[in-house]
Amino acid sequence: MDFSTKLVQFECAPGDDFRPTSTPIYQSATFEQESATEFGAYDYSRSGNPTRDVLQRQLADLDNGIAGFAFASGMAATTCMSALVPAGSRILIGADIYGGTYRFMERIARLQGIEVDHVDTTDLGAVAEALKPETALMFMESPTNPMLQISDIRAIASLTRKNGTKLALDATLMSPYLMRPLDLGADIAMHSATKAISGHADHMAGALVVRESELAERIAFIQNAQGTALSPFECFLLLRGSKTLALRMEQQQRNAAELAAWLRASGLTERVIYPGFEDHAGHDIHCAQASGFGPVISILAGSRERACAIVEQTRLFHTTVSFGSLTSTISLPYNMSHASIPEEVRKTKQFTPDLVRLSVGIESVHDLRADLERVLLALPQKVAH
Ligand SMILES: *Cc1c(COP(=O)(O)O)cnc(C)c1O
Repeated sequence: MDFSTKLVQFECAPGDDFRPTSTPIYQSATFEQESATEFGAYDYSRSGNPTRDVLQRQLADLDNGIAGFAFASGMAATTCMSALVPAGSRILIGADIYGGTYRFMERIARLQGIEVDHVDTTDLGAVAEALKPETALMFMESPTNPMLQISDIRAIASLTRKNGTKLALDATLMSPYLMRPLDLGADIAMHSATKAISGHADHMAGALVVRESELAERIAFIQNAQGTALSPFECFLLLRGSKTLALRMEQQQRNAAELAAWLRASGLTERVIYPGFEDHAGHDIHCAQASGFGPVISILAGSRERACAIVEQTRLFHTTVSFGSLTSTISLPYNMSHASIPEEVRKTKQFTPDLVRLSVGIESVHDLRADLERVLLALPQKVAH
C-alpha cells in the first residue's frame, strides 16, 4: 500500500468484538488477570496498553520497521535511546542538532558515564575520523534544524555499520511521509511526534522505530523500566492527527516552496535558507533521500532588531517554539528552541541572532505572503556596516 493509504487503512481495534472504526481509548492502568496464575494480553499500562499497541504498530508500518515505540515526548524517546549505550562507551552527535538533544547529551548522558563527541555530519571524512572503536551510537539530523544542512545519510550509515555503531536518525523535520530513516540504512528512526506527525500542536509525543528484533526487545524493556510510554489518550490523539499527515504536508510544502521563492526574489532579507533551492548545499543528496522539502524556511534578517520585528509583527505566523503544525509559526531559534546550547557553540554554527525560522502551515498562501510582505516592507532600511 502507498503511504497515504497506510495512514488511514490500518487495523484500528484488533480483537475488539464491537468492531469500532476508530481506535478506542483504553483508559485503564490495570487489566484483570484470567486467574491467579494466568495473565491476559495486558496487565499494567506502563508495560502495555491496547491503544498504544495500535499506535506503535502504525508507527512501525509508516517507517517500514518491525517495531515502533511511542513515548511521552521526543526527549523521552532520546532518553530511552541513551540507555542502549553502556557506560564507558561513546555517543557521536551531529554538530547542528536540536537544542534539547544537545543539552540531554552534554548534561545527562555524561552523568550516565557516556562520553559525547560532536561532528559536522556534512563532512564524511570528519565522520569517519570521529567514529571511535567505543562509539556505540551515532545520533544525527538531516536536514538540520534550523540551518537546514544536508548530510549523506546512506554514506554515513555505511561508515557506522563498518564501525559496529548503531545509527539513529532524528527525522522530525521531515516526518515519515518525506523521509524513512530505516530505508536509508539507519538502525533507529526517531521522531518528535509533537511536530508533524501529530500536526495539531495539541500534545507531546516521541517515537522510535527499529528494524531488528534484538533492538526492539531492548527498547521495549527500557520503555517499561523507565516508564516513559505515551498515555492512552495521547496515543489516540496522535493516531487521529497522523491520519492527515500526507494531506497536511503536501499543502504545507506547497506553501513553503512558494513563500521561499517569493522571499528570495523579493530581496527583503539577507538570505533565505530552504533545502528546495537547487543551489542549497546538498540539494541533490537531499532529493535522493527524501521525497520533499518540508514546511520549514529559515531567513537571515540582517540584524537582531529586524529579526525581532519580523517575529513580533507578523500576525498569521504565531511566535511559538516548535514547528510542523498546521498553523504557521515563527521563531527566533537563537533565543528560543536553541537557547540551551552555550553561546560559544551557537556562534560556531553560523547560527546567528538574526536567524528567523518559519514553519509554514496549511493556510492560504496568499494570506501568508501578504502578512510577511506587510512586515518586511515596513522594516527600517538596513544600516550599512
Ligand atoms: C522538538 C524536537 C525534539 C524533541 O522533541 P519533544 O517532543 O519536544 O520532546 C527532538 N528533535 C527535534 C529535531 C525536534 O524538533
